[in-house]
Amino acid sequence: MNSVVNLLDYDSAGLVRFCEEIGEKPYRAKQLLRWIHQFGKSDFAEMSDLAKLFREKLYSLATIRSPEVMSDYTAQDGTRKWLLATGQGNAIEMVYIPEVARNTLCISSQVGCALNCSFCATGKQGFNRNLTVAEIIGQLWWANKTLKSQRQLASKQSNHELINEAETSTEHKQASDRVITNVVLMGMGEPLANFDNVVTALDLMLDDSAYGLSRRRVTVSTSGIVPAMDRLREQCPVALAVSLHAPNDDLRNELVPINKKYPLAELLAACKRYLQASPRDFITFEYVMLDQVNDTVQHARQLVELVKDVPCKFNLIPFNSFADSGYKRSTKESIHNFRDVLMQAGLVTTVRKTRGDDIAAACGQLAGNVLDKTRRVQRGAGGMASV
Ligand code: SAH
Ligand code: SF4
Repeated sequence: MNSVVNLLDYDSAGLVRFCEEIGEKPYRAKQLLRWIHQFGKSDFAEMSDLAKLFREKLYSLATIRSPEVMSDYTAQDGTRKWLLATGQGNAIEMVYIPEVARNTLCISSQVGCALNCSFCATGKQGFNRNLTVAEIIGQLWWANKTLKSQRQLASKQSNHELINEAETSTEHKQASDRVITNVVLMGMGEPLANFDNVVTALDLMLDDSAYGLSRRRVTVSTSGIVPAMDRLREQCPVALAVSLHAPNDDLRNELVPINKKYPLAELLAACKRYLQASPRDFITFEYVMLDQVNDTVQHARQLVELVKDVPCKFNLIPFNSFADSGYKRSTKESIHNFRDVLMQAGLVTTVRKTRGDDIAAACGQLAGNVLDKTRRVQRGAGGMASV
């Protein structure tokens, strides 16, 4: 091995291989995993139970490096967004959403996205490349250690917090023990179009020696790449959210162009197969609410019919606008009427609270900096890169 490797690229099995390659015992991998992910260390000098010789090897052969943070924004509602450099002028975005009962980190999987959904700011940026494992898990690694140390600092600064803590509810306390309780792959990119790297990163999220999150607390959101949904079911079934957005193929072809390749009948069949392995007994369907486009009571009725034999919940997402999107957010009244039709049909339906829109951190507003390799703008919008 002659080049320096980034240890964030490896899950447990990868670290075992790495240790073997440099002549170390496999159990060293677990020690490394814990130092890196549980304790958030990047300096081998701080890994106190590693033999001196092993540490020296690590200095010359390995590094631990996540994408560099370029800027940090905090919204009025406490949502935070970071812009992270991924080289050559590209950047991705990551969002932290603190709530009473959970703290969610929303991470990116690609620089841009090739799928070009008509209402999505990321899609409009075009596509540059897949993120590496280190860049995907590096988002969680960095956020976890940074938020932890910020919390520790804040609690040192205010002594009376100790007294208040005794008064917080159990639910609140559970959320506050971990700075990040849930991870959603709902940032920039289509996670299932970067399958292998995403699955390795998921392995680390679930690994008890790394982040130890339960499968139910890790959600992959997909626009519906059917064969990859089946592979995820076989290899790493975490909670699944599917971006539906339309109740029929004609409209979905327009809004989510990947539908031309994997139409609704195939997508819904894949959802049913997924449920056989899913950690949750329902699929979450995401549905962006676009004024006069997909938000009428007729659309809602068609949707009820469409999903009638798929155990599911609906999450309605009021459209978040961005420059030149060409769409408007549905009115409150249409969203309520739409929700009522679904609820009356027995479908659990929530309306997603818009978080962080004053810093462009809400769903679909993440744009980062993408040097578009698909030259979509030159070709004219509407094209769909192959996946
Ligand atoms: N590529 C994946 C995950 C990232 S997008 C997917 O499409 O599922 C996360 C969610 O935000 C998806 O449901 C997506 O359709 C939705 N979204 C995209 N643009 C949006 C916008 N402008 N307003 C509201 N939601 C949007
Ligand atoms: Fe890509 Fe998802 Fe945006 Fe569609 S909605 S362009 S799949 S990131």
